[in-house]
Amino acid sequence: MSLGVVVLGPPGAGKGTQGESLARAFGIPKISTGDMLRDAVAARTALGRAVAATVHGGGLVSDETMIAIVRERLARPDASCGFVLDGFPRTVAQAEALDETMAGRGPLTVLYLDVPTEELVRRLTTRRICGTCGTNAPPGARDDDRCGKCGGGFERRRDDDEAIVRERLRTYHEQTAPLVAFYRASATFHAIAGNRPPEVVAAALGAAFEADAVAAGRLVQRTR
Ligand code: AMP
Repeated sequence: MSLGVVVLGPPGAGKGTQGESLARAFGIPKISTGDMLRDAVAARTALGRAVAATVHGGGLVSDETMIAIVRERLARPDASCGFVLDGFPRTVAQAEALDETMAGRGPLTVLYLDVPTEELVRRLTTRRICGTCGTNAPPGARDDDRCGKCGGGFERRRDDDEAIVRERLRTYHEQTAPLVAFYRASATFHAIAGNRPPEVVAAALGAAFEADAVAAGRLVQRTR
């Protein structure tokens, strides 16, 4: 049985950062579909060339493509005990496909990070990330500072331009927000206020995940 986690929420809610720390805390992989697509675009693979314009413009890649990518990724051995999904599902069709994939695998914890829209725009249009490993630059970092994790330089994400951010938020409200209604009735759905200090949000996410694991009869151990 595996313990699957979906971190759900609008762009800029902190899914990447929080998903990463949850995955690290419990020793399971974090799977970010946005990172997978950006890697494919950078490597100019067939997939990357097919999705580049969509990813840069803030639209959604087709359900068919995304479902195939995630199915293949979840079938790998490192995801057999558990995983944290960041950026998937983004549509009801993707959520239904994930339910099918999870059938017989164990409960799916859904952690919904709720953050007001203007705060999202502020975060996205001011954030810089490491060009090598994708880690967010710490608050107040200078232009020539280097990433504390890998030494890479910081840059803006191409789709963090304000017009594209607004488009991504529009896409979110149209296609992804309905997922909150899709999952809300589930016993393993948790809405968490994401507009708080990161360590407070991390503690709330960890506690919700642990509670679901215990309810499912699984002992999870924090690795750090
Ligand atoms: P993210 O890093 O999660 O904000 O994703 C960046 C971009 O990748 C999105 O704006 C979409 O164009 C694309 N993308 C990532 N995940 C998905 C998904 N599950 N379905 C469709 N498109 C996606």
